[in-house]
Order: sequence, then structure tokens, then C-alpha cells
Amino acid sequence: MTDNVRITVLVENTAESPGLLAEHGLAFWIEIGSQCVLFDTGQGGVLVNNAYRLGVSLNRVDAIVLSHGHYDHTGGLADALRSHQRTTVYAHPDAMKPKFARNQDGSSREIGIPGVCQEALRRSRDRLVLTEKPTTLSNGLVVTGPVPRITDFEDTGGPFFLDAQCQQPDPLWDDQAIFFESKQGTVVLLGCAHSGVINTLRYVRQLTGDRSIHAVLGGMHLVGASAQRLERTIDSLGEMKIDRLGPAHCTGRAATAALWDALPGRCIPCHVGTRVEFDLFTSPTIGASL
Ligand SMILES: [Zn+2]
Ligand SMILES: [Zn+2]
Repeated sequence: MTDNVRITVLVENTAESPGLLAEHGLAFWIEIGSQCVLFDTGQGGVLVNNAYRLGVSLNRVDAIVLSHGHYDHTGGLADALRSHQRTTVYAHPDAMKPKFARNQDGSSREIGIPGVCQEALRRSRDRLVLTEKPTTLSNGLVVTGPVPRITDFEDTGGPFFLDAQCQQPDPLWDDQAIFFESKQGTVVLLGCAHSGVINTLRYVRQLTGDRSIHAVLGGMHLVGASAQRLERTIDSLGEMKIDRLGPAHCTGRAATAALWDALPGRCIPCHVGTRVEFDLFTSPTIGASL
């Protein structure tokens, strides 16, 4: 079976067309077969505007997948659920935990799901699917669930904690990616890849029986990465021979520039309004079919 998959970037840190707005955050709109999936929701400041400007009807959403519980991916959830109250939401249970980041002066700030969105999620709890393992949606999209951490050069990429006193590190087991099979190979969308982009891609290959990865779009959280981590990440991405790589959001400017430089002809823009199309191949049969 083949079908068309169209991905539209609704929220990202940069926007280049008139009327589109940028914010630190990420959201993808995925039209897959006859269904629509929202992967992340940005901070909530620009989602509705950008959807309107890009001709995306949020009320057509069949499923919302949250990559993890940080505010820059979940802050538009209340708006998205208001558009379609019967939508199924896929998230790991740890996404709902309190989340904090330590500031340079030792104080902390809250970076979890904003209160109004927590409340919207509570109201939709009968439509919440907890992704503690790989989960396949009926349209063929797979939510990875928690990503095994196997590389020795990747960590969650920041001073993330579960308490305001910054005593309990947040391992971010809620971090997950989504993927589907295209005719050209696997297509992976990342939220922040706090598990490590290479850990994530290796896990996807494990889940697909080592099928080659055709495209990767999204946040790679290399914003504060050491030179060594960046080098090893680029080497690993080069070895995977990914045809289309769209580093975005928390990949950071320096790492994005390094990737464009090191992988000529393979990197593609990924900002608000970017549209990419793929031919859907077959539905993988990983995890429970929902
Ligand atoms: Zn994050
Ligand atoms: Zn982020």
C-alpha cells in the first residue's frame, strides 16, 4: 500500500514567511493517509495563528503525540484540545511530572506542562494513551516510547530536575520520537531528542529491523553539546547516510551550522511553514495497534 504523507512545521524557533510567527518550541502537523496527527504543540503563543495562516484546520486532528513534558512542546495543548475535544493524546506518564531547569545562579525555573494544559489533559484523561513501550497508531505512525540510552557520548543535554531544589535529576524517560515507513526508508520526527539523537535513531533502526533511515526532522538538543559530542554525533549521522536531515529547534545554531557544513546536500530547512512530503510504504507492526 502506498499513500501520501505531508508534514508541515507549525511551530519552530524561526519563521521566514509573512504572517508566520516564531517561538522557542516545536510542533509538526502530519497528514498521513486520511488522518491528521499533531506532534507537539509549541509553547502556545503561535500555534493557532500559524495553523490558520498555513491552512491547517486544527479541528481535523485525530491524535496528538507529546514528545515529552517540557513547556515548549506542550504549551499549545489546551488550544489544540479545544479545537477537537475527542482527540486521543499519546504521552509517556513521566511527561506529567513536575519539571525544572537550574539557572546559572543556582535558582530554578519551572519548565513542565503549563497548568492550563495539565487541566485540559486531565479533562481528556479518558482519551489519554500512556506510551510506556512502542505504540503503533492505526495510520502506521509509531510512537517509540522510552528510548534506551546506549551511546557513551550522549546525555539529556541540560540541568534538568524533577524538583525545584534541583536535587533529583530528571532522566527524561518521557522523551520519545515518532516514525513511519516511506518508500525511500524510515522517516523520523524528533521533539528534543533528550535521549540523544543517535540513541533515538539506533532504537528506531532496532524497531524497524534495521531499515535505512531516509529522513530526520526536529530538535536534536545539541545546543550546549561539547565539541566531542558534536563530532561523534556528526560522524554517526554521516555513517547512517540519511538522505534528508532537518535539524531544528534545540539543535542550536552552532550544531545546525556544523551539520549543514559536514553533510553537504543532505540538510534541509525546517522552520515554520516548511512542508515535506513522503510516500507512505507499509504499516509497521510494532507494539499494540490502536
Ligand atoms: Zn525539552
Ligand atoms: Zn524543546
